[in-house]
Amino acid sequence: MFRCPACDGQYARGYLSHQCRACGGALDFALEQVAFPTQAIGTRPPGMWRYAEALPVFAQAVSLGESLTPLVPCSIGPAEVLLKCEYALPTGSYKDRGSALLISYLHSLGVQEAVEDSSGNAGASLAAYAARAGLHLKVFCPASASPGKLLQIRLYGAELVPVEGPRPKATQALLGYVTQTGVTYASHLWHPLFIEGVKTMAFEIAEQLGWTAPGTVLCPVGAGSILLGLHKGFTELHQAGVISHLPRLVAVQAQRVSPLYQAFVRGDQEVPRATDPQPTLAEGIALPVPVRGRALLRALRESNGTVVAVSEEEIAAGVRHFGKAGFCVEPTSAVVWAGVEKLAQEESWTEEGPLVAVLSGHGLKAAQSLGALLS
Ligand SMILES: [Zn+2]
Repeated sequence: MFRCPACDGQYARGYLSHQCRACGGALDFALEQVAFPTQAIGTRPPGMWRYAEALPVFAQAVSLGESLTPLVPCSIGPAEVLLKCEYALPTGSYKDRGSALLISYLHSLGVQEAVEDSSGNAGASLAAYAARAGLHLKVFCPASASPGKLLQIRLYGAELVPVEGPRPKATQALLGYVTQTGVTYASHLWHPLFIEGVKTMAFEIAEQLGWTAPGTVLCPVGAGSILLGLHKGFTELHQAGVISHLPRLVAVQAQRVSPLYQAFVRGDQEVPRATDPQPTLAEGIALPVPVRGRALLRALRESNGTVVAVSEEEIAAGVRHFGKAGFCVEPTSAVVWAGVEKLAQEESWTEEGPLVAVLSGHGLKAAQSLGALLS
């Protein structure tokens, strides 16, 4: 069920550590078989659980009624884009797909207590699903995270531990606590079941396009769980013969914290830590080094994709442009506006299908930074 790509270590269902026991690597997850009975799927309630034959089975799935998120047309410069509005999920971000799977798994194993570190959205999402499962969650967050996200964590009854300093300080504090207590680390960065949940975004996009693949999908990337989820989902659809090609996957990073962009441009096989990360409006992707850097580079190259990096001015402009088009998104999501504009300048457009851009989180979560951009 769980496999370590670095040392080929294998672990059965019930394994609880967030990493490979032998080498410390990040694990992959695979089902023996996935299937897409498209006619039957079409008769089921909307949302991620309708793809049951491509998901692990739980006696009791932990769900908050995840909806099918809209795919809405919008013009960005010369490009006609379909916006995948992931902020329509229960806690206002795409993370709910991963949280639903990860908390369902922990709940099925009888886990009562867990910890997580987050820039805000994943902590808020896991807190909601933990509340639904009756699981006690402690969340380590940068004290500087958006107040709306920190409030959500507390509202759902999780224990918030604000940590001063940049994002990695929250991880350091958490790892010290995990070493000390041995408590389960429900990590959205490390746990492969989080990506397993996010892959349903690809299934939904394909189904919304009449079970065909888009030409290109563009998404914000920090740890890269959207990119890896899309890659896994579209690959499974392709291998099952449902879609004819893999869409190009395009990662968008903030220039101020852009380790994947740097590594991709250099042609590296690994993503080294960003040497001089600076504060960015796009707090949700301000991660100086992704856990699964090698997998991200592989997903980009396998899909003939690329990475674009956008400036703070472009992120701010993106927030305003989306607002004027009727979309309230946080700065982390707004990076895709400039991402589309840059792609349109630099690349020849694919004829293979529509361009989809992922809106990962709702703007009201970051109301304070949006307010500052409007004043
Ligand atoms: Zn290993």
